[in-house]
Amino acid sequence: MPATIPGITILGATGSIGVSTLEVIAAQKDRFRVVALTANTQVDRLFQQCQAFEPKFAVMVDADAAQQLESKINRAGLEIQVLQGLDGLIEVATLAQTDHVMAAIVGGAGLLPSLAAAEAGKRVLLANKEALVMSGQLFMDAVQKNGAELLPIDSEHNAIFQCMPDHYCQGLAAVGVRKILLTGSGGPFRNTPFEELARVTPDQACAHPNWSMGRKISVDSATMMNKGLELIEACWLFDTSPDTIEIVVHPQSIIHSMVEYVDGSVLAQMGMPDMRTPIAHALAWPQRMESGVERLDFFACGQLDFQEPDYNRFPCLRLAEEAIRTGGTMPAILNAANEVAVQAFLDQKLPFTRIAVLIEKVMNSVDSRNADSLDIILEADARARDAASRMILAA
Ligand code: NAD
Ligand code: MG
Repeated sequence: MPATIPGITILGATGSIGVSTLEVIAAQKDRFRVVALTANTQVDRLFQQCQAFEPKFAVMVDADAAQQLESKINRAGLEIQVLQGLDGLIEVATLAQTDHVMAAIVGGAGLLPSLAAAEAGKRVLLANKEALVMSGQLFMDAVQKNGAELLPIDSEHNAIFQCMPDHYCQGLAAVGVRKILLTGSGGPFRNTPFEELARVTPDQACAHPNWSMGRKISVDSATMMNKGLELIEACWLFDTSPDTIEIVVHPQSIIHSMVEYVDGSVLAQMGMPDMRTPIAHALAWPQRMESGVERLDFFACGQLDFQEPDYNRFPCLRLAEEAIRTGGTMPAILNAANEVAVQAFLDQKLPFTRIAVLIEKVMNSVDSRNADSLDIILEADARARDAASRMILAA
């Protein structure tokens, strides 16, 4: 194959974003080479993907799963090297043959491989928002120092990126941007009677009205912590503060976010709520290519609504804003507490309304420090996870 065809590593290939990425690539076979695919434990799904895309490397984080995958690959006569563990993830995120890294692992587990891709100067397609929330300055510095390209996959940030002028890196004020309008659907519980929230089940929380996603981000959407994490993500990606960002609840998810300029112009990016659009945008950037997404039919969607966010119903919004204003390791502490709380909710060990309560308690009990090094960030993450786990056991 000619060297001009970009090689791609997909971290988290078996997840919702990973699968959508492979769908986009499958329809563009001559444009990309799949170099490596990774998964945590889902052997069968990764094996099917290996058969379909014949990457050079496949990584299973779990050692037993890696052995199972290797024997399946050998039996099928495929020439794919199987690696395992965090070392395997980092190896495939930094390979010379890889140009683009889709960072689509969920949660803090994605931090080290995503950061390694940035340090190796890759085009990083960032879905794994938790990595940036945890390590903001460090991550942005790694991108800059190593000549990496950071393209947002999160639909809102991809929309904002599309609505920004060239050279927005000079500073938003310098290019005439007044506000970023970060839209969110409000999730499945936007109108649920308040007193019922304590009893909602994981399946109800994961039944998002517009988007089909992994379970962790689905719960984050239901608490609106997802919007809180996205607020922090936007601060880092667009080098700004929460003062410049307004959250706008837009239940139909047709507008994916907007940028308001000083002359009163507001640019919006719209489309069907389908992650293949931002994925195709970031893969082809600065060109455009087909994504397979259905056309937006304005006559079918009819009405677009907008509301202010309800901070009483969704306390996670306030907690995330507090975390980024405090700075240092507080966003990593917020993120870690949220991951533990969401998992406990999914395991039916914590009621939905206690997620925010638990996060706030952890934020009050673990001190924030300057997030100067990876070690400090990882230590804050570990302390917050530990505090959150102990609080759940004690409850
Ligand atoms: P998912 O749960 O569907 O998939 C997660 C992937 O990460 C899987 O491939 C899994 O094998 C892998 N993984 C899980 N734990 C791991 C670990 N400890 N080590 C290594 N790999 C691990 O999640 P998703 O919905 O695809 O979301 C992935 C990321 O993209 C998240 O950060 C999410 O916030 C972000 N995102 C997702 C969407 C969406 O529509 N799904 C939209 C915007 C942003
Ligand atoms: Mg989003």
